[in-house]
Amino acid sequence: MKIRNPRTGHLDFSLRVVSHDEVAQLVSQLRSSQPQWWQLGMAGRVKVMHNFSEQLVAHREALIAAVAEDTGRWAESELEVDVTINTIHRWCKDAPELLAEAPPRKAHLPFLEIQPSYLPFDVVGVISPWNFPLLLSLVDAIPALLAGCSVIIKPSEVTSRFVAPLQEVIKSTPELSSVLKLVTGAGETGQAVIQHVDTLCFTGSVATGRRVGELCAQQFIPAFLELGGKDAAIVCDDADIEVASSALCWGSMVNAGQSCMSLERIYVHENIADEFISRLVEKVKKLRHNYPDIKVGEIGPVISDKQVAVIRQQLDDALQKGARALCGGHLLQLGGGFYCEPTVLDQVNKDMLIVTEETFAAIVVVQRVQSNEEAVQLANDSKYGLSAAVFSQDMANAYQIAAALKAGGISINDASLTGFVHEAEKQSFQCSGMGGSRMGAESIRRFIRKKSFIRNTGVASPWWFKA
Ligand code: NAD
Repeated sequence: MKIRNPRTGHLDFSLRVVSHDEVAQLVSQLRSSQPQWWQLGMAGRVKVMHNFSEQLVAHREALIAAVAEDTGRWAESELEVDVTINTIHRWCKDAPELLAEAPPRKAHLPFLEIQPSYLPFDVVGVISPWNFPLLLSLVDAIPALLAGCSVIIKPSEVTSRFVAPLQEVIKSTPELSSVLKLVTGAGETGQAVIQHVDTLCFTGSVATGRRVGELCAQQFIPAFLELGGKDAAIVCDDADIEVASSALCWGSMVNAGQSCMSLERIYVHENIADEFISRLVEKVKKLRHNYPDIKVGEIGPVISDKQVAVIRQQLDDALQKGARALCGGHLLQLGGGFYCEPTVLDQVNKDMLIVTEETFAAIVVVQRVQSNEEAVQLANDSKYGLSAAVFSQDMANAYQIAAALKAGGISINDASLTGFVHEAEKQSFQCSGMGGSRMGAESIRRFIRKKSFIRNTGVASPWWFKA
């Protein structure tokens, strides 16, 4: 399979498509290696994962270069590799306590004693998207491995150049190579993974997530679905305008808007709207494309060519229906890559795709509201519910709004904090996902099956036959 380079447009990467039979064989190997991994115990697994992180550090430059080649952006690729390494450290620190077996306790019936226990799933499957290819391939794999599972990862076909250097890292951590495997390919390889694993973590679009959820149901395995969003920010009339405009410029434009927790809709109180919008536009206008030098500029190319058509359709639809571009408003072609002009749109409404559908680009829409209630109602009027943001200097007001929003992770006086604070549990609302929290304590517990040993301490149970 030939894969396009997001900066040049050239089909310069050959992706090996792993067949169904190969997936079956690899999962069978993972299944037979898992008991030994589990028997290693938490302390043993933590040691191996620390070695893994050391090897990632040793291969940092190669990984950054490959991720940058996959995605066409540099600064975010550095951040992605470093966040992945930090994620391993954090899990190595937290996992022993989170999965420590509780001491035995008396049951409600006092002659019975409960000893809680657990068993990890044998093989966890991970299917990941293209927007943060390395991080989103490992974000679930790391806690799953620490919990004692084997893991098979199928990254996005759009961004699989990083797989070769990552496989080198895995090879240099021998204890890991029998319990962590990567397979490359597109949807069919993903389907093969689903058919053989015991539980699945999927990150991707709502449309594919729905299909994946159905396939998992057919296999009778749990599916954890982390899907798209159309995140809203509410800027109240007492917000610090400087803070709100800087945070939202970053939160809507970082990674060229190609983040699930990108803030794509802003509802600003009319009392401060002119001042807020003018500062936001002033800041957005300063952002530069990272072309021709990948290391200079904040806005990278559109990574997936399929997304180009989506962005074009949404922009055309909005501009045709009366939206006004306060800055940007075009897709540019530079050196064979597609770059979205950093764009702020106003005069938008719910008839426009750009207000209702995930855009996944450096585009944010702004609507003026007359009250906080109206802002909450508009923010919640969406099929998505991933994350959101609230800006207000009155904390009681901010928390009240946060509580009313139908989304899992709400940043207060900042943007997209769920990308940095991984210990805060949150779930996805509505079409943005399904299953337990990927963050915090619950995250690692998605990979175990709870057990209880219930012991009779030496009394004849009163329900036994008396005869
Ligand atoms: P996608 O749904 O097109 O693809 C995701 C993965 O699914 C890829 O690896 C793909 O090969 C695989 N796939 C496709 N069809 C499949 C099938 N039938 N069975 C099994 N696997 C299949 O998503 P994408 O375009 O790569 O990623 C962008 C989307 O991901 C956006 O909607 C974004 O919001 C979402 N996302 C969500 C989060 C989150 O945490 N909620 C994080 C990042 C990205």
